Amino acid sequence: MVTAVSVLAGMQASPATAARPLSLFDFFGGGRPRPHRTIHAPKIPLPRPRPAEAPAAKTGKLSAEKPAEGEKPAAEPSPPPAPKPSACRLALTEEIAIAPSIPDIQGPGGCGGSDLVRLDAIVLPDKHRVAVTPPATLRCPTATAIADWVRTDVAPLADKLGSEISGLDNYDSYDCRSFNGIAGAHLSEHGRADALDVHGFKLADGRSIVLTDRDVSRDFRESVLHSVCTRFMTVLGPDSDWYHEEHIHLDLMGRHNNYKICEWDVLDPLPKIAPLMPAARPEEAPPRAVAGKEDGNKGDAAKPQAAEPAAKAAAPPAVPTPKSLKQARRRGR
Ligand SMILES: [Zn+2]
Repeated sequence: MVTAVSVLAGMQASPATAARPLSLFDFFGGGRPRPHRTIHAPKIPLPRPRPAEAPAAKTGKLSAEKPAEGEKPAAEPSPPPAPKPSACRLALTEEIAIAPSIPDIQGPGGCGGSDLVRLDAIVLPDKHRVAVTPPATLRCPTATAIADWVRTDVAPLADKLGSEISGLDNYDSYDCRSFNGIAGAHLSEHGRADALDVHGFKLADGRSIVLTDRDVSRDFRESVLHSVCTRFMTVLGPDSDWYHEEHIHLDLMGRHNNYKICEWDVLDPLPKIAPLMPAARPEEAPPRAVAGKEDGNKGDAAKPQAAEPAAKAAAPPAVPTPKSLKQARRRGR
């Protein structure tokens, strides 16, 4: 029996205890603690000593667990890095335009865009500012194209009007809508912040120049037409359709083979006095009294025939239909 226990004890003994003679305490737990149990005893973590510069904890356990003021909790995720500014953004400096960046827009149905700016004003080469009213929400490349157009082409043209340009009337910029606002039509370039509708310009002397106003210098309007059709991919104005009679639409929509659309009729001024009075009686018309005197009894029947030429001459002009108006405008090119 003793021999069997000794053999068993010898098989289970660790190397550390092999050299020591075994006793019954080793089998029933009454002896000294074994060295390996003290070696592997779990360490209880203790809080680090409070830094001397940390503010004193106020009261309670909760406040003691709060991170020191100004110190972020270690578990809080760091915010994503800000996107790098585009080349356009870097180039559109305050020397050219006052156009702060605004957050991307994610609208319904594909509306919205990135690299957006709010075009508040265009800065002319002589440092004068052209206020954009109201400020236009545009993609950076479109805002840059507008600024270049005003700085390079419009400002010198305004000199011809005897003043300096001081403002741009913004009819519409970013607008999440379909083409011409027609239900079911494709998304307008306005929905991509890629288009600007220009109503006109303000001059430093207080005048307003409306680009579709027939009474504005035709030479000025034709110069603007040539300028925008050179610079932009789409130009729509009077006579393009019935949605652009009061403003000029400009956008940078890309098309196959860089195809451009330039539809703006520069119209002649309307007559100052509408032809409401009957025209003068033609000399070749028969005298009014002749028919009645020749045949007194048939006078009433003869009057309409005799009076017909004069009646035609005196007829007021027909009310213009949309078609005839359009044709008239085409003649005004
Ligand atoms: Zn438009």
